[in-house]
Amino acid sequence: MLSLAAWPADHATAVIDFLEVPCQSKQPALVVEDTPRGRAFEAAIVRSLPVRMQIAGTLFVKPHAAPAKDALAAAQAAKADRLIVFGEPDLVDGVADGIAALAWKVPLFLDDGLVSAAATALHDGRASDGFALVALPRFCMKAPDALTAAWQAKHPGADVPLRTLKAYAMAKAFADVVVQFPKHAKRNELNEALRLLPYGDEESGRPLFDMTGRSARTLWLPRKLGATGTEADVASYYLDPDFGPLLRARPPSLYKAEPGSRVVWLTFGDAKSKAPRSIEDDLVKLGLITKGYEAQMDEWILDELLARAMAKLNRLFLKNEDGTFIPGVSFNISFTTEKPKDLKPGEYFTAVIAGNDPETGGRAWPGEGRCEIYSTFMQRTIFQKDALAPPLKSEDRRYFTGAYLWGSDSTENLRSKTIRSLLDGYAGSFALTGAHEIGHLCGLGHDTDDPRSLMNVVEGAGLRETSACWIPAHVKTLEKFLGRYEPPKEKRRP
Ligand SMILES: [Zn+2]
Repeated sequence: MLSLAAWPADHATAVIDFLEVPCQSKQPALVVEDTPRGRAFEAAIVRSLPVRMQIAGTLFVKPHAAPAKDALAAAQAAKADRLIVFGEPDLVDGVADGIAALAWKVPLFLDDGLVSAAATALHDGRASDGFALVALPRFCMKAPDALTAAWQAKHPGADVPLRTLKAYAMAKAFADVVVQFPKHAKRNELNEALRLLPYGDEESGRPLFDMTGRSARTLWLPRKLGATGTEADVASYYLDPDFGPLLRARPPSLYKAEPGSRVVWLTFGDAKSKAPRSIEDDLVKLGLITKGYEAQMDEWILDELLARAMAKLNRLFLKNEDGTFIPGVSFNISFTTEKPKDLKPGEYFTAVIAGNDPETGGRAWPGEGRCEIYSTFMQRTIFQKDALAPPLKSEDRRYFTGAYLWGSDSTENLRSKTIRSLLDGYAGSFALTGAHEIGHLCGLGHDTDDPRSLMNVVEGAGLRETSACWIPAHVKTLEKFLGRYEPPKEKRRP
């Protein structure tokens, strides 16, 4: 089975980004279809919600039913500033009628899949205020000319509908694979070949579908609601998705040592650690710290680096970025910034992000279950040329609190984007090197098989963490050493 959908944690991150920019929502309410998919969506949103946002209410609605009037009224009384709608297109109609009955003028936030002819409220003016999100796999972002021509022959001047575009992309992927087999192919052969289909060079040959069969990269497209339908919004106005989520979207405390998993304690170390703590000095050079002048913001920066590094490490070990496991897929490993109290030294791995080295970004000592990730080496060799100038100052607080309204000033947009991209890039290097060194702790050696391999020291330096992977031989070793996560038995039954 292959799917064009994104994982719930990625989906939640996108929804939250757009809730802040452009919706400026501080307390949205959720109207979610009561299905396993809806429950997973709600859980992912709640888990990834930044501290500056609160959920004003959650309504679970049975499929094809309308939301209960008193529950909607409760969300209104709780001053919900936005209604996030997740489900089938007819839910849009139910919500539009529900808020009209309450004379409640609240803007909507329609999730992917709701922009559809089946949501009649979108076309007759009942749902005309708000925002809608559409997800497209990155490999089918634009209709090929032949498809556009074929569509416009019947619908002059009209764009190819997104649903048609997705269907076309899936059919094309299938056709691309079928031609590889001169004779009748078996189902598992086709499946295997589909999973090997790559992106081009811009993604370092990354597969279109990830290890779970889902689209490996998703583009989130914003749309505006209007009186007669929805229209595409200008995507460049929004946050650049290549630099990770909003600032302070996830705290490091989200990531816990999971019982039964291999725990990795991630720390910037102290004066006595190996290597000795260096992060403050590194950040001074990068202009990313106020040296205590704005102590709280300095704390946020350190937290941000660790939280982003852990999100990326989780992904590299085939987990969701919010730290949750994908049963049967994720390696059974967890990351935390709290020193494990219930485990003896030697029962967990320690990864210290500190120090310098003349020639390498990290080193591992498998006998000691310990590795070092040289933050000074990365500052020096990769990030110094992009250091923040002028350095971090009091006025920058508002990029971390959500007080700055994105889009109100181009100089400020650039400043906020520079801070976010530096933090995300620096954390990305910690994660890539961290995964490599933890790979050594799990018994992996180096390889030169694949330019995307995490253990490839020759080509690994220019790798983006979103394109990195474990080669099949390394997956086998990790499977033996860490195992794949399976949920506890009693939780498995529905
Ligand atoms: Zn190595």
